[in-house]
Amino acid sequence: MTDFTRARQTMVDRHIKPRGIDDPQVLAAILKVPRHLFVEDALRGQAYGDYALPIGDKQTISQPYIVALMTAALQLKKGDRVLEIGTGSGYQTAVLAQMVNRIFSIERLPQLARRARKILDSISCAHVQIRVGDGTLGWPEEAPFDAIIVTAGAPDMVDVYCRQLAPGGRLIIPVGGAGGQQLRRVTRISADQFHEEDLADCRFVPLIGRGGWPESPS
Ligand code: SAM
Repeated sequence: MTDFTRARQTMVDRHIKPRGIDDPQVLAAILKVPRHLFVEDALRGQAYGDYALPIGDKQTISQPYIVALMTAALQLKKGDRVLEIGTGSGYQTAVLAQMVNRIFSIERLPQLARRARKILDSISCAHVQIRVGDGTLGWPEEAPFDAIIVTAGAPDMVDVYCRQLAPGGRLIIPVGGAGGQQLRRVTRISADQFHEEDLADCRFVPLIGRGGWPESPS
């Protein structure tokens, strides 16, 4: 067992299982994905701590517990078609890629999308499709999706995502102000019926785009 494999097991045993995540497929996926490959070399020693880390361009790789919580909340089945908004480092994408065969991921920053593509290809996740663009528009050509995961904070519910869900489909999205958000799950019951639940408090970088926050001047 390498040091990184051991560190991953410790992270799952200390920070993920004790907080109620017990879905064996989610735990297996987290144990398999080498998170240290998704962070800068200088931060590799911190890759298995339970916190977000910077990945450049004012963006972050998500906290492992939140990745596990969001993945479990999606209630994935192998044949599901999944849309992810905010590829970022590609870590959450790689976790999803252990569980389903069809993943469509959108990132607005081309340099992050390129970096994620390289890492994902190096760990046999070539089946993930990545598009550069405004993810608040969803991916209409590939809709409907059985699951949609949004990894940046929206000011309000984004109706486009609800409309791109298949019947029975689940959307996980952080919604709220810049100070913090509520992680929400929306399940599409039928063509015009949706069930909404609050899952947890969370804090994500902003979802920037036509259906999200305006870009702040740098
Ligand atoms: N889950 C990712 C990971 O584990 O590395 C972290 C994602 S990071 C918290 C949020 C990402 O959403 C950033 O890379 C940001 O550029 C991206 N983002 C923000 N607004 C977006 C939009 N409208 N469309 C696509 N990506 C967006």
